[in-house]
Amino acid sequence: MNHDRGVISRYREYLPVSEATPVVSLNEGSTPLVHAPRLSEKVGRGCQVFVKYEGLNPTCSFKDRGMTMAISKAAENGVKAVICASTGNTSASAAAYASRAGMDCVVILPAGKIAMGKLAQALVYGAKVVEIDGNFDDALRLVREIGEMESFEVVNSINPYRIEGQKTAAFEIIDVLGEAPDFHLLPVGNAGNITAYWKGYGEYHAKGKSKRLPKMLGFQAAGSAPLYHGAPVANPETVATAIRIGNPASWDGAMTAIQDSGGHLDIVTDEEILAGQRWLASNEGLFIEPASAASIAGLCKCLEMEDGPLAGVEPGSTLVCTVTGHGLKDSDIILQAEFPMFKAKTDKADVLNQLGLS
Ligand SMILES: *Cc1c(COP(=O)(O)O)cnc(C)c1O
Repeated sequence: MNHDRGVISRYREYLPVSEATPVVSLNEGSTPLVHAPRLSEKVGRGCQVFVKYEGLNPTCSFKDRGMTMAISKAAENGVKAVICASTGNTSASAAAYASRAGMDCVVILPAGKIAMGKLAQALVYGAKVVEIDGNFDDALRLVREIGEMESFEVVNSINPYRIEGQKTAAFEIIDVLGEAPDFHLLPVGNAGNITAYWKGYGEYHAKGKSKRLPKMLGFQAAGSAPLYHGAPVANPETVATAIRIGNPASWDGAMTAIQDSGGHLDIVTDEEILAGQRWLASNEGLFIEPASAASIAGLCKCLEMEDGPLAGVEPGSTLVCTVTGHGLKDSDIILQAEFPMFKAKTDKADVLNQLGLS
C-alpha cells in the first residue's frame, strides 16, 4: 500500500519528477478550503469567501508543499546537506523534510525576529541553527554565498523546485471548487507563493481544468512593502515576521502575477493585520499567524475602497484567501496583547461571581 498522499504523488504529472526521484513526503497538502460565512456576508452580493487553511500542513505552513519538492530533488541529486535563510517557517519545514531524508540541515535566522514556535520546530527536528545579527535579507545573502562554495543545497525559494511544489495549492482549489475563483487574495513576503499560485492557475487553465483565471490580489505589510513602493526596503519592520522582507527573491514573478491577472497590490498596517487575525479567530474559528492575516486585512481594506479591486464586484463571485500559517506558531503575540482574563478562588460561587453570573 502507498502511504504517501503528498503533493508529489497526487500531482506528479505537473511536477518535474521522474521514477528516479525518491519522494520525501510528510503527506503535505490536501489542506481544507473552509467556507467562511461571516466573511462572505461582509463581501455581500451573494459572494462566497473560502479560506485555504495552509496552517494544517505537517509543519503548519504552506512551505511544506515546496519543501517536499526541494528535498526530493536534492535526494535525487545525492545531496547530503541543505541550507536556508528563514523568517521561521522555511527553516521549520526544511528541518523536518531534511530529517525525513536523513540529510543535515543548516538554517540562518535573524536573531530575535523569529516566532518561538518556529524556532522550537527547527531545533527539535535537529537542524543546526545559526542566529545572525542581521535581517532576513542578510541571511539570504549569506546562504547564497555559502551555497555557491560549499556542498550545501540551497532550499530557499530561489530554489526553483519550491515554486513548483507550491503551485499545487492552486490545483487543489480548482479540484474542490470545480473552477478557479474570481479573486485570490494572499500575503506577499518573498513573493514565491503568489508566483507559484499564478503558475498553478495558469497550468490548470492550459489543461482545460478551469475556464477562467483569478485576479491575484497581493498584500504586503506597510512597514515592509518593497513591491508596493517599487524599491527594496533596507530595514523592513512588521509584527508579521513571515513577511518581514525588504528585497523579495521572486519580485518579477509577483509583478507578473498581479499585472497579467488584472489584479492588485496593496499594503496593510500592523494594526489591520492583528485586527484581521483576531477577527478570523473570533468570527470564523480559524487561528492563523499574523502574516497570514494580511490576506484577511487586505480583503477588509479592499471592501472599504471606493475604486478598489472589489468595488462593484459581480454578484455571486467566489473569493479565496490563502492563510499561510498556523496561529500557534506565534502564540506570544496573542499573550502579549490585552485580552480579558478572570481570576477566581477554587470555588464555584467565586468562579460564577468573577464571570458576572451570580
Ligand atoms: C513564507 C510565508 C509567507 C510569505 O510567502 P512568500 O512566498 O515569501 O511571499 C507568508 N506567510 C507565512 C506564514 C509564511 O510562512
